[in-house]
Amino acid sequence: MATGGGWAPARSVERHGAPRGGGGTRSKSVAPCPRRPSPSPARSRPAPDNGGSADSCRVRVAIRLRPKNSEDLAYGSDFDSCVELQPESKRLKLKKNNWICESYKFDEVFSENASQKRVYEVVAKPVVESVLEGYNGTVMAYGQTGTGKTYTVGRLGKDDPSERGIMVRALEHILSSMSFETDRVAISYLQLYLESVQDLLDPEKTNIPIVEDAKTGEISLPGASIVEIKDLEHVFHLLQIGEANRHAANTKMNTESSRSHAILIIHLQRSSRIKEENSSLSNDTHDIFPDDLPLVLKSKLLIVDLAGSERIDKSGSEGHMIEEAKFINLSLTSLGKCINALAENSPHIPTRDSKLTRILRDSFGGTARTSLVVTIGPSSRHYSETSSTIMFGQRAMKVVNTIKLKEEVDYETLYKKVEREVDQLTSEMERQQKLMKNEKMQLDKKLKESEGSFHDLRMTSNIRIENLEKEKCQLESAVKTLMRDLEEERGQNNLLSEQIAELEKLVNENKQQQQLENLSRMKIFTDTTKEHEKEMEELLRQLQEERRCSSSLKDRMSVLQQELCDAQSSTQLQESMAHELEKKLTKVTEEFTSQEVIYEELKSTQEKVQQEMLHRQGLEDQILRLKWSTSDICAEESKTSYGMVRSGSGLGNAAFVSKSGKIREALSGQRGTISKIFEEVGLPNVLALLKSEDLDVQIHAVKVVANLAAEDINQERIVEEGGLDALLSLLETSENTTIHRVTAGAVANLAMNGSNQGVIMNKGGARLLANVASKTEDPQTLRLVAGAIANLCGNEKLHLMLKRDGGIKALLGMVRSGHAEVIAQIARGIANFAKCESRVISQGHRKGRSLLIEDGVLTWMVANSTRFSHSTTRHIELAFCHLAQNEDNTCDIIASGGIKELLRISRESPRDDARNLAKMALDSNPAFLREVQ
Ligand code: ADP
Ligand code: MG
Repeated sequence: MATGGGWAPARSVERHGAPRGGGGTRSKSVAPCPRRPSPSPARSRPAPDNGGSADSCRVRVAIRLRPKNSEDLAYGSDFDSCVELQPESKRLKLKKNNWICESYKFDEVFSENASQKRVYEVVAKPVVESVLEGYNGTVMAYGQTGTGKTYTVGRLGKDDPSERGIMVRALEHILSSMSFETDRVAISYLQLYLESVQDLLDPEKTNIPIVEDAKTGEISLPGASIVEIKDLEHVFHLLQIGEANRHAANTKMNTESSRSHAILIIHLQRSSRIKEENSSLSNDTHDIFPDDLPLVLKSKLLIVDLAGSERIDKSGSEGHMIEEAKFINLSLTSLGKCINALAENSPHIPTRDSKLTRILRDSFGGTARTSLVVTIGPSSRHYSETSSTIMFGQRAMKVVNTIKLKEEVDYETLYKKVEREVDQLTSEMERQQKLMKNEKMQLDKKLKESEGSFHDLRMTSNIRIENLEKEKCQLESAVKTLMRDLEEERGQNNLLSEQIAELEKLVNENKQQQQLENLSRMKIFTDTTKEHEKEMEELLRQLQEERRCSSSLKDRMSVLQQELCDAQSSTQLQESMAHELEKKLTKVTEEFTSQEVIYEELKSTQEKVQQEMLHRQGLEDQILRLKWSTSDICAEESKTSYGMVRSGSGLGNAAFVSKSGKIREALSGQRGTISKIFEEVGLPNVLALLKSEDLDVQIHAVKVVANLAAEDINQERIVEEGGLDALLSLLETSENTTIHRVTAGAVANLAMNGSNQGVIMNKGGARLLANVASKTEDPQTLRLVAGAIANLCGNEKLHLMLKRDGGIKALLGMVRSGHAEVIAQIARGIANFAKCESRVISQGHRKGRSLLIEDGVLTWMVANSTRFSHSTTRHIELAFCHLAQNEDNTCDIIASGGIKELLRISRESPRDDARNLAKMALDSNPAFLREVQ
């Protein structure tokens, strides 16, 4: 079993709290506190303020009434209950007899039914809580033997927790509230009998001394067992031991338990920090202890089961018993005296008179929180004991505790902590010193560098200042020069400004002049425009007139075309008649050889035929002229519509040319002028101009010759005077297109004359015309060239030569132009050629197939018979009919598909002569008949 040595002897520091004094009368009864010098720096805390009044620090006294036991019941009504409880007012009425009754007030009044738990909570729990907070405390049970002190305080209740008394419950409470890591709880269990202290946990230990620490006043019992508690089982175990030892001791000593005091001392040690207590520390302690000192709170709780309070005489003690009772009473009497002294606030408290009061010295009435439970029995038999017990309690209620907190510094932990901090601070200081040294070195180094650079800077600055001063001087002189220049420039600027002003003035004058000129120009322009408009109006008027002339010309042309048609039809009729006559003549001639009778008739018929031939020739010439005049009228009409009069195009009979309007007048005017020139200058001189070096003169000379050539009377003479040679030479040598066109027109006019045609051919005219046709694309030139060749086609004697010189090919080649007038001339030439050829062949002067076929004319005719205008189509149809008369053409006509054309002409041609000729050819040719069938 452990002894008190297990508890570390901590240096106790303590300070008494200020005396607690409430208001009112009670404050007077405050107990004077034992004053002791403080040997060491001390600290204290005010006691937990349960209300903050003196009452809260007063010894709390509760009365507990034991239930009636068998003895009480045995006495029955003789000794009725002398006690009446008033728990609601916490009062107790003690009845002496029927007349005398006294009432006492206590802190709590427990009836016989009060539970152990409630008694604990009211009486002991506040003290236990105070002890847990570090204050000493005492719970005592006082009362007559057999009234329930041991029941209230020491009952174990191991099996029935509700039976547990204050000792078990207090330890239970402490164990559940403390921390086993930092806190410790231990118990000593003692018995005080006949002023001897015996260790109930180790009964061999008797006469244990009671020692009071001179410095702290702390009471200790050296040698008494102090057993550290681990759990509740341990508690039960120890308390059982103590109970058993108490009982055994009493039996051995032949005493009763009621004659001894049982004292359970619970030692509690808890760790604590006192941060929050700073304000309560005195200045001197604050200087010594840092805020977070490791502290331990040491406190103890005394639970005392006092010996019975009954009087010895009454209990019947004798001899030893009396001695015993003296001792018992000594401690109790001493306790009573101390309580009285404390209650009366006496300057002397006789605590040293008994061991009990010495043990209780630091736990009762002094520095501890104290509760007293006074147990009484109900029976009036024990009235006086009950009364004295109650009075004891009443006096105890007046005792005021001055409790104190006991805290001790844990110097070992503190020392270690301080040592650690000193180490840290030392190393930190060393580190700082090292850093400072390094910094100082660096600063020294920097200082040296700065001094060096400062010196350099000063040198450089001096040099720069010198340079700047030099520059300043230079700049000043430059500024002066500039200022001078500026002055000069300013003078020049003023001069220039004056000049500009003058110029501006001039410009303004010029502007005004310009505006005047513009106005006059505008006027002139307006006048001119008006004149031009007038001229345009005049021209428009002339144009309209020209258009009117053109329409009348068209009318005239249609009349002429009608006349031409009529003439052609009559010619055709005459031709067929001549043909018939020729056939008849042949027959007659054949008959004449055998029949002389018919000879005369034949002769006269031949004469008739000759006459008819001549007549026909005349008619053909007339037709040709009509055709030419028609073509010219067409050409003139087209030119006139463009406001242009072309001279030198006078093909054909002049009588048919320009018979209307202005053209006629212009032409007649021109012709008149030309005739005049001709008369004045003479033909040889006009022809000589054809060889002029001047192109303009040459062109005009050709135009004059062409106009002269349009007149029948001039045609032979021009050729005789060498005009044809000159014209053909121009065709051959000139590169000028106008010369080509006008010359071709002149040659065409000359080619109208039958005797000229042979000369033209002999002089290579056909070849030259073919050459011009191949070179040009000008439709007018082509038309005139085609007209010239067409005229030459009308002379059957020249056919072979014409073919040889490329005339036919040239004629067909001009088809490429696609121009209606050109194609009309081509068709006319082909028709002329076919007709004359047919006549020669029918007369037997030539044989063989047509010269036209060799040059591809038949093929072209078949392909284009109906493609062009009526007149062109008519020429092609007539050419077909003439070619069909020649039996030698039969094969070619069939091969080229011409038979189909012949059939079409025979059926659809608008002209009777064409239809008749086609029919005749088809009917007379057996090959055609076969083909048709
Ligand atoms: P004391 O210790 O004061 O001499 P005890 O505690 O020994 O008295 O009690 C005497 C008897 O009375 C015991 O048998 C006890 O169980 C009983 N007793 C005492 N108080 C009570 C009570 N409040 N309720 C029930 N029984 C009680
Ligand atoms: Mg007892």
